Amino acid sequence: MGDWFETIADVEATAEEADRLGGEVLSWLVEQGIVMAERTDCILGGTGYAPGPDYGIAVTQPYAHMHSQGVNGLNVVTGRAAFYSMGVDRIVCPHCQSAVVDQDDEEHWPSFAESIDSWYAGGSGIESCPHCGKSAGLNEWHWSPPWGFGHLGFEFWNWPPLDPGFIADVADLLGHRVVTPRGKI
Ligand SMILES: [Zn+2]
Repeated sequence: MGDWFETIADVEATAEEADRLGGEVLSWLVEQGIVMAERTDCILGGTGYAPGPDYGIAVTQPYAHMHSQGVNGLNVVTGRAAFYSMGVDRIVCPHCQSAVVDQDDEEHWPSFAESIDSWYAGGSGIESCPHCGKSAGLNEWHWSPPWGFGHLGFEFWNWPPLDPGFIADVADLLGHRVVTPRGKI
């Protein structure tokens, strides 16, 4: 058994606006009945927001056992974070469309790993392409599965796949581009 997660990661929110935007989206989720208003022990190693009576409007196919799962909450993450998927299949240059990392070629992965470390430490996370020589920030590269680097994310634990329309609604509320990393730990 493991725990699945799917994250709606805002890759544009600044550190200064993350708390306010996180609170606004949370209020909207509570109003819609998608999550409960009170924090409870429903995520790994902490408290989060359990699924509300109408959580089903946020997902493609509700689970019969959703409310009885021990881990089933929403964690609102604010602060500098790498919102990762499990593993990386491909990273493609936004300028020349070359795959810089893929399953057959991981030679350049250590360089991305270094950029992620430096981004965590407050750096720019700019990475240059070994094919065309142009540079791009970590969020500009095309990651499959998606990864996002930002200051605000909504992690849903053991929820069914989120509905694309719901993800678009959250992005509209934020007024920002979002990516949706997912995986299992
Ligand atoms: Zn390139």
